[in-house]
Amino acid sequence: MELNENARVDTSQVEDRRGSGGGGGMGIPIPIGGGRGGIVGIIIAVVVALVGGGFGLNAATNGGGSEQGDNTSLEQKCSAQDALEQLDCRNTLYVNSIQAYWRTALPQVFGDQYKPSKTVFFSQNVSTGCGAADSGVGPFYCPADDLVYIDLTFYRLLADQLGAEGEFAQPYVLAHEYGHHVQDLLGTEAQMRRQQQRDPQNANTLSVKLELQADCYAGAWAKNATGTSDEKGQKIFKTITDQDIQQAIDTAEKIGDDAIQQRSGRPVNPDEFTHGTSEQRKQWFTKGFSTGDPKACDTFGGTQ
Ligand SMILES: [Zn+2]
Repeated sequence: MELNENARVDTSQVEDRRGSGGGGGMGIPIPIGGGRGGIVGIIIAVVVALVGGGFGLNAATNGGGSEQGDNTSLEQKCSAQDALEQLDCRNTLYVNSIQAYWRTALPQVFGDQYKPSKTVFFSQNVSTGCGAADSGVGPFYCPADDLVYIDLTFYRLLADQLGAEGEFAQPYVLAHEYGHHVQDLLGTEAQMRRQQQRDPQNANTLSVKLELQADCYAGAWAKNATGTSDEKGQKIFKTITDQDIQQAIDTAEKIGDDAIQQRSGRPVNPDEFTHGTSEQRKQWFTKGFSTGDPKACDTFGGTQ
């Protein structure tokens, strides 16, 4: 993968809350299972965020929006010569590419208008429209405030604990979270939540379908990413190679529910799957990538 050094990093698409010492985020810590809670937490947090409720008691009063981060330093940093050597600037550019894709694809494919969603960079803990969260939960999308949240140190954990080292794991993770934003815009997520309430026994199965669709949407973005541009029409990526795509697929495999259960030393229990197996995650990302068409991401199989 090669990013275009002439592309402008649009920092208005992120909200930098890292310098605030966690200000406002000192809420109820999210209990996460097991000693290796971080990885397990990815699953729990995202599910909890998506099914709503339970993610903190003050969701109604604690919503985002009131604490705008100060992006001045990020803006300066990301307009400097060496911007693309900086993790946060690169990730901002990934966000720019993902949203540029959906701005075109959503009207084209689904006839819906795309509404941008910011990514919040936080460190350690953060308060969200879905309640308080800490880094242990991994990146997530909160449908209540339409924001993507990530502590960028998550990538180190992904590399060190899961062996998902490739750089392209990063845009894959972000594209997956924006996949949830798209599901939110399309009403898929709300529909799934209603189905879960009607059919609690299948709550996890439904969650898996939602997650696999987000993986597939990430694949569709990856296929079209080299066509995305900044607001001045400069291409964001110069190249994306087969090796990059393989890194995304490897990451998808490494965060499969069965792989994570095995890693944490627990027996593999399909009843507890919420995101899909390694094989399924790989398959659906690949389906999105090979077709380049979000319409092909019909994980619900017409049941919605
Ligand atoms: Zn997800």
